[in-house]
Amino acid sequence: MKSALVCGAGGFIGSHLVKRLKREGFWVRGVDLKCPEYAPTAADDFLIGDLRDQQIVRQVIDRRFDEVYQLAADMGGAGYIFTGENDASIMHNSAIINLNVLDACHKRNIKRVFYSSSACMYPAHNQEDPDNPNCVEDSAYPANPDSEYGWEKLFSERLYLAYNRNYGMECRVARFHNIFGPEGTWQGGKEKAPAALSRKIAQCEPGQSIEVWGDGKQTRSFLYIDECIEGVLRLTRSDFEGPVNIGSDEMISINDLARMIIEISRRNIGIDNISGPTGVRGRNSDNRLINERLGWAPRQPLRAGLESTYAWISAQVQGAK
Ligand code: NAD
Repeated sequence: MKSALVCGAGGFIGSHLVKRLKREGFWVRGVDLKCPEYAPTAADDFLIGDLRDQQIVRQVIDRRFDEVYQLAADMGGAGYIFTGENDASIMHNSAIINLNVLDACHKRNIKRVFYSSSACMYPAHNQEDPDNPNCVEDSAYPANPDSEYGWEKLFSERLYLAYNRNYGMECRVARFHNIFGPEGTWQGGKEKAPAALSRKIAQCEPGQSIEVWGDGKQTRSFLYIDECIEGVLRLTRSDFEGPVNIGSDEMISINDLARMIIEISRRNIGIDNISGPTGVRGRNSDNRLINERLGWAPRQPLRAGLESTYAWISAQVQGAK
């Protein structure tokens, strides 16, 4: 039986990934600071542990797993990353997790390690035009991410690829672009735009408006969780190390995203644009490289994923009343 380790298995993407690996017949160990919030873990073995601690990491990586997925990071939505207040801990916590996990894998002679970088590492100056952002993989340098979260991702990408070059590892690096779906954070300040807007819409009284940060013309693309995981597995098991984008190329403005969710909700709700942290003006996944190297790219329309996500969040909102 093949074995896999998922670091960050209590988080949004990690908990979905564990389910998928179990469906494929893996023996799965998960590790996180916390259990998944919305459903019990599907892992065979789930350890609560802090990956900043080298000793814990050695206990977690106590065997030669066939595949390791490193998703643990100190992260959140715009309200967490772009205010500047969390910069030191974001950089310190995530960098030390990556340093510890990767080195422990190397010492156990584990070859395949997947690392989740982020589109936040792309240079801010290529993302000033909301209609025409440039997120092609080789536009990363000269580097100029708009957040310290992005700088840490860039450092860690380089770390994984350096272990490939110097130690013969086979790490795989993807740059995720806004992953969303059911069983993701939907309140508390770390939620992303699709979840935050879905919550606001589900909580709003008919005839009232929801608050949307910025002028609403900033653009993004959003990838549904199942497609993200498909991309992760295809990349991990391929002969291509990346870095490569895993994202949707269906770009939409934040106000149009809000309108789409309002339509799905079939509720009479307006939009009120207020000032708030927004990040870059435009960002979209460029999927040419993943198409070329893996013969695959995500294709599900945004609306389909939003329908199931809105249904799940509105049920959470009703349940919390
Ligand atoms: P998440 O916050 O739900 O999951 C990350 C998990 O890491 C959390 O459960 C957290 O408790 C855990 N963690 C943090 N510090 C830890 C520590 N010291 N020890 C053990 N566990 C720790 O986030 P997610 O959306 O599932 O993202 C997974 C990965 O993908 C992250 O690396 C993130 O940076 C990256 N990413 C996500 C997105 C997205 O849109 N969700 C976009 C770009 C990149």
